[in-house]
Amino acid sequence: MVNEFAYCPRLAYFEWVDGEFADNAETTEGRFHHRRVDQAPTRKSKQAEEESGEATIHQRSVWLSSERLGVTAKIDLVEGEGTAVVPVDYKRGKRPHTAQGAWEPERVQLCVQGLLLQEQGFACERGVLYFVGSRERVDVPFDEELLARTRERLDGMRAMTLATVAPPPLVDSPKCPRCSLVGLCLPDEVGWLRASHNGEVPGLRRLIPTNDDALPLYVQTPGAKLGKDGECLKVKDHDEVIGEARLVETSQVVLYGAVQVSTQVVQELCKRNIPLVYCSSGGWFYGMTTGLLHKHVELRRRQYAVAADRERCLQLARRFVQAKIANCRTLLRRNHRAAPDTVLQEMKNDQTHAGAVESLESLLGVEGTAARRYFSEFAGMLKEAEPGARFDFEGRNRRPPRDPVNAMLSLLYSMLAREWTVTLQSVGLDPYLGFYHQPRYGRPALALDMMEEFRPLIADSAVLTAINNGEIKQSDWFER
Ligand code: SF4
Repeated sequence: MVNEFAYCPRLAYFEWVDGEFADNAETTEGRFHHRRVDQAPTRKSKQAEEESGEATIHQRSVWLSSERLGVTAKIDLVEGEGTAVVPVDYKRGKRPHTAQGAWEPERVQLCVQGLLLQEQGFACERGVLYFVGSRERVDVPFDEELLARTRERLDGMRAMTLATVAPPPLVDSPKCPRCSLVGLCLPDEVGWLRASHNGEVPGLRRLIPTNDDALPLYVQTPGAKLGKDGECLKVKDHDEVIGEARLVETSQVVLYGAVQVSTQVVQELCKRNIPLVYCSSGGWFYGMTTGLLHKHVELRRRQYAVAADRERCLQLARRFVQAKIANCRTLLRRNHRAAPDTVLQEMKNDQTHAGAVESLESLLGVEGTAARRYFSEFAGMLKEAEPGARFDFEGRNRRPPRDPVNAMLSLLYSMLAREWTVTLQSVGLDPYLGFYHQPRYGRPALALDMMEEFRPLIADSAVLTAINNGEIKQSDWFER
């Protein structure tokens, strides 16, 4: 944690106070190298060490802690002779060519290990950083300057853990593009929002968040069994494997209807914080199993505080509705055969109007008007995949939807609401307490808030793609 704090206090706060952690190529590679370091030495390597006659102490993965310093550390390797020891910390990559031989976060982390060894009565005046990429050892003397810097970092870190708000992001720092939590931290966006409140308009860098390759696993076969085999989930139907997915590539598991699931799968999913979702065979969302509730209490406290503040709710709700209208308008412009200019202009006016309303009730009115304009032109975005097989659409209807297009829209909206409910819960927010949609028993109000702007982008455009590409045809439908 000291290493992360020295690298960026905000990163340390996310990882150690909020409990957020994400891997990127560098953290994965680092863990891989440490796994090798942690492996117990073989008899052969032990014998070689003894024969070399060098250090008589050669201990790997040493855990030490100190109440006085308030820190715990796992030292990769302790070398030494008698009471004089040297901590060795393994680092991925090559030795950086800096004046002090290594970056400050690494030197501070090593110095903490030295302080812990000193507490145990060892003489420890220096440490070693071993860079796996270039196979180089860098000597780090624990001089007065480094000791003072380390104590300063430890004090700062303790103060940070007591704070209820994360430290501000670094400004235009070259550390951010390499940071594993850049997608969560959004340093430039946060900086931009803060500065724009003060009337400044700073530039935005293009930061690429880590690519989350995990996908949901849907199991729909009635009577199928979901089991675990090593690092894989396997779906069987009468002892025949009909599907499998690697656990590391699974974001959630969704079971439709009568699908059996083993206890081992439930435990493994809880351990990995992968939600297990139960739906009826028709897609009705029954509930889900997740690991322990997210530990980020402060996040929920702030959510409740904002939800109780009508002015803040209105500010957020305006943004949700404005974004939704803007996205609907964009979809019309891109897909309509000839979107009427009057409708596009009216929707633009609705968007502006939504940003200036004085109450949530007025906002509902503006949103409803914009939705009517949008759906009045929705049919213009539907194409005939086959001659004479056009889908009719005369406006939005629901509960129940009365035609195929409305049925598809309703299904996708309900899937989107479920997706947001699962996501919000997994990041520690309460999906039932919204800012725009008011709380009502059983209604995932925050999920409904969050999905507003994604309705046209995800649900509507998926319906248009399925129909216009001929993936769903009139002949796929029947009425009872
Ligand atoms: S993205 Fe930058 S500011 Fe944010 S946590 Fe990482 S290093 Fe810190």
